[in-house]
Amino acid sequence: MRTCIGCRKTATRTQLLRLVKSTNGTGEPAALVDLRRRMPGRGAWLHPTPDCLRLALKRRAIGRALPGVSDVSAVEAQLAKWSGPSE
Ligand SMILES: [Zn+2]
Repeated sequence: MRTCIGCRKTATRTQLLRLVKSTNGTGEPAALVDLRRRMPGRGAWLHPTPDCLRLALKRRAIGRALPGVSDVSAVEAQLAKWSGPSE
């Protein structure tokens, strides 16, 4: 079982999104979604919901799980893609 860094509830790997530390286009640390759960390095686990991402940001859990990371735009983009266009 893994713990979601947003709501801190435990879930299985398949229920959670794996986030890894990478860099964005300007070379700053950024969180990336590891869709295949295979990327090397330290990972953080999050429910694939905007609510849990919001909680993780509020609690600064992203920066603790993935040191130095504050850019989560790639994660937001992925969640938006799954939830579809907002009405
Ligand atoms: Zn959660």
